[in-house]
Amino acid sequence: MISGIWKEDVSLAPYTTLKVGGKAKYFAVVKNEEELKEVCSEARRLDLPVLVLGGGSNLLISDEGIDAVVIKNEIEGILYQELDDEVLVTAGGGEVWDDLVSDIVGRNLWGLENLSAIPGTVGATPIQNVGAYGVEAGELIESVRVYDIDKDDFITLSVADCHFAYRDSFFKTAGGRRNIIVSVTYRLSKKPRPRLLYKDLAEYFKAIANPSLQEVRQAIINTRAGKFPDWTKVGTAGSFFKNPIISSEEAAELVKEYPTLPVFVQEDGRAKISLGYILDKICGLRGLREGDVGLYEKQALILVNYGGASALEIKEFVQKISDAVFEKTKIKIEQEVNCW
Ligand SMILES: Cc1cc2nc3c(=O)[nH]c(=O)nc-3n(C[C@H](O)[C@H](O)[C@H](O)COP(=O)(O)OP(=O)(O)OC[C@H]3O[C@@H](n4cnc5c(N)ncnc54)[C@H](O)[C@@H]3O)c2cc1C
Repeated sequence: MISGIWKEDVSLAPYTTLKVGGKAKYFAVVKNEEELKEVCSEARRLDLPVLVLGGGSNLLISDEGIDAVVIKNEIEGILYQELDDEVLVTAGGGEVWDDLVSDIVGRNLWGLENLSAIPGTVGATPIQNVGAYGVEAGELIESVRVYDIDKDDFITLSVADCHFAYRDSFFKTAGGRRNIIVSVTYRLSKKPRPRLLYKDLAEYFKAIANPSLQEVRQAIINTRAGKFPDWTKVGTAGSFFKNPIISSEEAAELVKEYPTLPVFVQEDGRAKISLGYILDKICGLRGLREGDVGLYEKQALILVNYGGASALEIKEFVQKISDAVFEKTKIKIEQEVNCW
């Protein structure tokens, strides 16, 4: 069976939204657990690492390509399980994320609507604990079914096992990386649970009491359309960097120097600060373009490949941005995008 899905020397750039990257030594599209197991056993036989590709919307792949077996996860299927006031939804890791959100909203189930219009697949949502407009996927995740490459076994991880944090999870650790996410179960509410405190949403709904679920989804879609470039037309991976989280003392020092810097106090007392503001207002980098790489003119956190940028050019540009931020704030910023 493997011969039909197994390919050699496949160019990966078309599989990423940044449209950058060299070839994979081996490439296989898997549509079910059996195929996944088989491809991994072949990788083991060849003594090559396995990397998993979803929608390629959070990836920067090197120009040289990778000596690995790249698996494109296309495991589909959605199952709804009714409870009293809630519904458990289990979706295959290869399902398109926003198609799932649309389906869930269409069934009048609350929880994931603020995460509308994010590119990518279901299986990637636990990796960086996808978040937007005041909601993180981890808050709704009940469990995650994975294939453990080393143990050659399928297991179910509870939400506690996933160690979700801001744009982070167990799956980004050395031990977590050996897991391939096969399906994710989300716990949704039949009762209205709007989460409208995020500034843009509060503004959008200031004259509308009790918006419907469809209205919230549409508000998110409209708001995002004004902030992000159209990733189906322009090379981008969305926000390239994480918002830095620093100590309250460091934040207080920065606010002394830049009094309008937005600071969000976290549960543990630390402060999340707006990197978009730093890049734009403090460093003056919004809209900066060098060759085919730039920071989007409407939102400085978003890196854009305007055409033929290479991974090397992007990395050099990213280094310059990081240096500029460090010079002004003494903060070492971290990338949100994964590098292969
Ligand atoms: C325009 C735009 C807007 C965006 N907005 C947001 C946003 O608001 N919030 C946000 O959090 N992100 C955002 N992103 C980033 C991205 O869409 C998400 O991180 C998304 O979840 C990535 O999904 P993917 O399937 O494309 O993952 P990929 O890019 O294919 O993979 C990302 C990482 O996850 C791993 N991975 C993927 N699938 C699996 C699997 N099944 N098992 C194990 N590992 C896996 C990959 O190996 C890789 O390391 C945005 C991106 C773009 C282009």
